[in-house]
Amino acid sequence: MNKLSVAIDGPAGAGKSTISKILANSLRINYIDTGAMYRALTYKVLKNNIDINDNFGIINILNDTNIDFHENHIYLDNIIVDDEIRENEISNNVSYIAKIKEVREKLVDIQREIANNKSVVMDGRDIGTHVLPNADFKFFITASVKERARRRFEELKKKNKNVEFEKIIEEIEERDRIDSTRKVSPLKKSENAIEIDTTNMTIEEVINNMIEIIEKGR
Ligand code: C5P
Repeated sequence: MNKLSVAIDGPAGAGKSTISKILANSLRINYIDTGAMYRALTYKVLKNNIDINDNFGIINILNDTNIDFHENHIYLDNIIVDDEIRENEISNNVSYIAKIKEVREKLVDIQREIANNKSVVMDGRDIGTHVLPNADFKFFITASVKERARRRFEELKKKNKNVEFEKIIEEIEERDRIDSTRKVSPLKKSENAIEIDTTNMTIEEVINNMIEIIEKGR
């Protein structure tokens, strides 16, 4: 079978990663979570007490960092950091690091190299517009801010985290703002991406919809 690439973009908390994971599984191809790569670098920056506005320090550490994906695990300098990168502190700082041109260039190179070698479902903010502009299928997954915050709230509650709903709305709006207004490849729907608003849809409905589109167009 020919190599297949599916690009999935959208704002924070729209359900991209849950959907991408299931979709990749159904298609029996690899899932690449590009957000996890930006999160891994953010984790390293914070762990090394580098100021989030210190671009020079961040670029310096970037040059000495190895980020990779293997069998659905994110590796930072050859160590799995799947759980560490999901902390709220990382979510609230990652967008500042993802704005830096040099950071994006390095991570995009890695992402393209992965997609060059195998079939992928890749999710992020700039996959359809920049990383894989010639992807076979492009989707833009959205949901209302309130619904995205509700999902995030439920997720954190399950992990016994003490959070306020209003605060989550604020954090999501702030992340959307930074991601969509940054200079280098901002969050934007690619012209030929299919938009799916998941606000009132179940995950199953979204997946079935996408699989139907892919099967028809393949
Ligand atoms: O997808 P996730 O919410 O885990 O991504 C975390 C952050 O990483 C985003 O808010 C964004 O700042 C950055 N990101 C990006 N480009 C991507 C994927 C993620 O800028 N392709």
